[in-house]
Amino acid sequence: MSLLKVPPQVDVLVIGAGFAGLYAHYKLRGIGLTAFGFEAAPDVGGTWYWNRYPGARCDVESLDYSYSFSPELLDDWRWSERFATQPEILRYAEHVADRFDLRRDIAFATRVTACSYDDATATWTIRSDRGETIRCRYLIAAVGGLSLPKPPEIPGLENFAGRWLQTSAWPHEPVDVAGKRVGVIGTGSSGIQVIPILAQQAAHLTVFQRTPNYSVPALNGPVDPAYEAHVRADYTAHHRANRQTKGGVPARINTGVSAMSVTPEERQAQFEKAWGFGTFSLQAVFNDLTTHPKSNAAGAAFVHAKIRKIVKDPATADKLLPKTFPFGTKRLCLDTGYYATFNRDDVTLVDLRASPIERITASGIRTSDADHPLDLIVFATGFDAVTGPLLALGIAGANGVALRDAWADGPQSYLGLMVAGFPNLFTVNGPSSPSVLANMLQTIEHHVDWIADCIAHAEHRGFDRIEARADAQTSWAQEVADMADKTLYTKAESWYMGANVPGKPRVFLMYIGGLDRYVDRVEAIVRDGYAGFAFSRVRVPEERL
Ligand code: FAD
Ligand code: NAP
Repeated sequence: MSLLKVPPQVDVLVIGAGFAGLYAHYKLRGIGLTAFGFEAAPDVGGTWYWNRYPGARCDVESLDYSYSFSPELLDDWRWSERFATQPEILRYAEHVADRFDLRRDIAFATRVTACSYDDATATWTIRSDRGETIRCRYLIAAVGGLSLPKPPEIPGLENFAGRWLQTSAWPHEPVDVAGKRVGVIGTGSSGIQVIPILAQQAAHLTVFQRTPNYSVPALNGPVDPAYEAHVRADYTAHHRANRQTKGGVPARINTGVSAMSVTPEERQAQFEKAWGFGTFSLQAVFNDLTTHPKSNAAGAAFVHAKIRKIVKDPATADKLLPKTFPFGTKRLCLDTGYYATFNRDDVTLVDLRASPIERITASGIRTSDADHPLDLIVFATGFDAVTGPLLALGIAGANGVALRDAWADGPQSYLGLMVAGFPNLFTVNGPSSPSVLANMLQTIEHHVDWIADCIAHAEHRGFDRIEARADAQTSWAQEVADMADKTLYTKAESWYMGANVPGKPRVFLMYIGGLDRYVDRVEAIVRDGYAGFAFSRVRVPEERL
């Protein structure tokens, strides 16, 4: 960790040093602008710096969950597993930082607490929790959509005599759970990854489940050498092709037809093929699983049957069946032995819908019908996603309007890239862009490339103020909402809808039309002279920072 001297002013300030922030520094150097960065963590990696819980790994195949901007980087990095572990992905981020000397302009262990725009000079002033101030012409919020954990929100935690941890802020040193009674709250992607490992290590594991989730076997293992050779034959073209898919990954098991257009036997066979392949294939094998209620019900029934087959105790199996939301409308989980974990004698499943948590006591968790004695409580309870980390920046835009006020009824953004009323502020994977609905290394590179091109476009034409137009933003928001309404996604109480955070406005946070369509739309907007964006000049040239 290095504590850099913060310059008084810079062309571009980048907040965050995860994959988005790192790539932003690389790109900005390429267009000759001075850049500086703040990162709350002591080092690079973002998601993969913080989420160190046992079992953490990517759910997009490693060969795809990689940057594509540098052929040399593609050549000199080898992944060991089909779905890399957190330590390996973190090493990759560190390797990228070293290879391109990206740490030199980043102040680590420094959290941005306030950002205010000055209309007169078209500049932003940024303040950090270390009391530093820096002025910049452009501000890039590369803060990640999943970087603000929900606080443990269960009463009584302060009285607990044991230890408690969050998956999203797991300690660096190994956590010894041998001989301990461990409780995990939460069965989203994080819970589903950590539960099987903790079950193997703990004396007893109690899983507190509020909503059962759909999970498919990841079928992890070493990278398949034949597939790797195929991809590496033209890795750049592979990544380019990925950007032209809905999910930013190759559609390897995909019939391209409705689940209702085939016979029940064929449907079953295709579901089996997808289940036996791993990845998100089970959601992509037919083209209407998240839009057509009958197709969706067929997908749900297939997973229900699998759960019933894997889990030996029928009552436990029944508790694990997701029934309260359509299949695939919360992020599908990829697991290694998740459902089979509930066959262990030393694992208990508590259904919080039947017996809710009342409070945490000194000795464990009290539900409405029992006391569960515990030595360690693990919160795998998720994040205040997408808007949370942006609102935490304390942003005040033109005329001093706070982003928090502008978004009081839900986020508004043009393309997830800029917000009307907040000139020269760019968001990477902001609300109403594909973000987590696609492979995020792809969505990150696309956004950062666009931001750098947009700034270069302005600079070359002598502009110093770029802003999304309110009318363009309104019609984009409508288009995004209309698209979501045509799917079953809006029927789930998910973090995609903001439903996981009490009081958060219910707005579908992503563009659901697919990365391919989104990229085409954005390219068309640029070809159309950056339609929907207003460029202007505020300062006279000699006032340039
Ligand atoms: P992040 O990695 O979140 O980095 C943002 C950085 O900004 C953080 O380091 C944070 O400390 C910093 N920051 C935030 N606020 C401030 C502030 N106020 N001041 C200073 N610094 C700040 N996506 C996939 O596509 N495939 C996967 O397999 C996948 N697996 C995931 C697994 C987990 C456990 C989680 C939580 C997410 C996963 N994601 C996955 C999503 C993942 O977040 C993205 O893939 C990607 O890592 C995001 O990179 P980023 O740089 O945009 O954001
Ligand atoms: P999540 O999907 O939001 O899951 C949180 C879990 O905690 C849910 O089961 C939720 O129940 C439960 N919960 C929350 N508050 C609770 C409370 N007060 N009492 C009881 N239960 C509570 O969060 P996550 O698992 O961290 O995953 C978030 C996202 O990160 C994923 O969707 C994915 O995009 C990414 N991720 C990916 C991977 C991967 O496989 N590569 C791994 C981890 C995370 P309800 O459903 O009832 O709210």
